[in-house]
This record gives sequence, structure tokens and C-alpha cells, in this order.
Amino acid sequence: MNSKYKKKTFEDAALVSHLTYQIGESNLLRKKSQPVDVTKIDSPEIKKVISKLKKTLREYKRLTGKGKGIAAVQIGIPSNIAIFFIGKKIETIINPEIIEKSQRLIEYPEICMSANPIIAMLKRPAWIKVKYLNEAGEEKIWDNEKDFIINRVLQHEIDHTNGIINIDLVPSDKLILDSDPKLFIKYRKKLKDAKN
Ligand SMILES: [Zn+2]
Repeated sequence: MNSKYKKKTFEDAALVSHLTYQIGESNLLRKKSQPVDVTKIDSPEIKKVISKLKKTLREYKRLTGKGKGIAAVQIGIPSNIAIFFIGKKIETIINPEIIEKSQRLIEYPEICMSANPIIAMLKRPAWIKVKYLNEAGEEKIWDNEKDFIINRVLQHEIDHTNGIINIDLVPSDKLILDSDPKLFIKYRKKLKDAKN
């Protein structure tokens, strides 16, 4: 245990806990989000939701240097909308649907903004193919076998729209506290090895 790192982890969690609902705080987190009416994607209400999501994700990133994606339900809006970072750009996914996934599973330490700083050591398909609408209402397909992290973020956010949190998907001995600064480095290294 590295006390200094652990302290920083909890300080970071406290710093951003107001940005999203935390587990135990809202029943919405366990509920399936409602599909967005395609004819309303351009409406002021939906634009407002997307803009609030982007503001929240950017703020989370600014305060902690972490945060890769967020679903609307995490800010109390049960609509089937989520966003995620591609580099510095943010992509919006509306009514996403996983249409294909790899057999190969990868275990990776995963943090949820709504269960921070608990880590779920979760096995997920290395790759998924997702059909979704972007914020312009265009039908898009995510299909990128190389970007392991985004493939995982997408699965995490789509789970949120179905009322599932990563900590629900693992046995209790796979829930660990983020108190080891080397944990992510170790797993990232393993990932690199897995590709070779
Ligand atoms: Zn989450």
C-alpha cells in the first residue's frame, strides 16, 4: 500500500464526487435508459443534455486528469446518450447497439465515475462493433480493433444505459481499491504484450 497515492486517490474522488451520481445515491443508475426519439435529436432538450455531458466530462478531466466517458444517466438523465473522448475530441453516441464482439476477452482494471475509487477487475471483449447515432443524427459504426481502451469505454457506457455498473459484473474479490500506483502501468504493459 502506498499511503501517499491512496490519499491522492481519495482526494481526487472527493474533488469530483459532485459531478455525477454515486452508487447508492440514485436508483436511476440501475435503470435502463429510454431510447432517444430520432426526430428529437436536434431539439433544444437533447442538445442541452449533450452539452451538460461534455461540460461534466471535461471538468472531470480537468480536475483529475482521468475520465474517458460518461452516460447521461450518471447525471440523472435516463436517456440513451453517452459521450467519450477520442483524443481531445468528444464523440456522442445516441441509442448505441453492440452488433458484434470479439471472442477474446481482456481483463483490465476499470474505474467508474459513479463508484470511484473502487476498481473492478473486469474481463470484457477486446473489441466490439457498435451502431449508433451521433449528435447530428447520422448513423455511425464504431469498428476499431486497435483501440483497446475506447472499445472498453464504449462497453462501459453502453452498460450504463442498460442500468449496469462495472462493479455489478465481477465477484467481490475482483473489486479492489485504487491504492497501487503501479497497477495500471502493469496492466497496460500486459496489453502491449497481448498484441505482440
Ligand atoms: Zn461508469
